[in-house]
Amino acid sequence: MSDKGIMPMEYRDMKSQQFASDNYSGICERAWLAMEKANSGHTLAYGEDPWTQQAADKLRELFECDCQVFFVFNGTAGNSLALASMCQSYHGIICHETAHIETDECGAPEFFSNGAKLLIGPGAYGKLTPDTVTSIVSRRSDIHYPRPRVLSLTQATELGTLYTPAELGELGRTSKSLGLRVHMDGARFANAVASIGCSPREISVDCGVDVLCFGGTKNGMAVGDAVIFFDTSLAEDFAWRCKQAGQLASKMRFISAPWTAMLEDGSWLTNARHANRCAQLLETNLREIPGVELLFPRQANALFVTMPEPALKQLRKNGWHFYTFIGVGGARFMCSWDTTEESIARLSRDIAEAVECYC
Ligand SMILES: *Cc1c(COP(=O)(O)O)cnc(C)c1O
Repeated sequence: MSDKGIMPMEYRDMKSQQFASDNYSGICERAWLAMEKANSGHTLAYGEDPWTQQAADKLRELFECDCQVFFVFNGTAGNSLALASMCQSYHGIICHETAHIETDECGAPEFFSNGAKLLIGPGAYGKLTPDTVTSIVSRRSDIHYPRPRVLSLTQATELGTLYTPAELGELGRTSKSLGLRVHMDGARFANAVASIGCSPREISVDCGVDVLCFGGTKNGMAVGDAVIFFDTSLAEDFAWRCKQAGQLASKMRFISAPWTAMLEDGSWLTNARHANRCAQLLETNLREIPGVELLFPRQANALFVTMPEPALKQLRKNGWHFYTFIGVGGARFMCSWDTTEESIARLSRDIAEAVECYC
């Protein structure tokens, strides 16, 4: 990116950090170096390479169990293909109404499952409760309604909140008693582990999660999420499913080498902790600004706030990018592995100024 002539215009305009998505960030050094190190010589292709073996072993170590691991290019693919492997086309997948699989995957879960229907439910702070799940399952049992088969939970949620281990345990028990399998969308699973301070298995396999999609991209990798089958019987044909969907990376070592590297030195957690801490700092700043209200408790690396509409406009005019279409509206500010205190200060100051003008 040293040659200004070939640098795309938008990139040049966005040399400052943004808070629109943790995907606005680049690749962390640990992941980058791992890719570089893997970039020597020839090796087996399509995931048969030693890097991929090692990354899968590292994940088995991390979750302290004999799970089956696959790597796909992104979260949408991971979720959709995992869900497709957990149900038949006539089944229903229960999820929160703000779930990424419902609102941001362009129908991919329905497409890859050949028509399984998402059954959405409400819930405070982006979370489902056992009661809601039970009522969705028990409202119909006739042949005209899709048969509920999977519960999909997002951890951390789309609204930046967390299920506690106890809440997950209860949801897991409820699911088992209702004959539901449990899928976890863990695009920000690392942020959840970092914030709760538990072991990864305590908020996944120990709570009855059958398949976890563990996000790497938002955590500082270039590309690549891990699909982890704790119920290994569900993984039987998964490799073929991935290949058919165009999700079998030919040179898979460049996805798996960063996973190994980041699991080895713990930078998956360091990165997540950093993003969480940045969001906490931003929260502290914004709480001091009259006219800015927090929408949900900040528990991971996302902050949702409301402020007067003209202030939002002013912020955009000042060059800030942020989403306002997620959940119940408001502006979402997302911190990432590389967010700096300087950027947080700049955003906080601009928000304070914008709101002051319009309050
Ligand atoms: C980002 C994200 C995903 C994955 O999205 P991709 O853009 O397909 O990588 C999945 N679930 C949630 C909750 C997300 O925030």
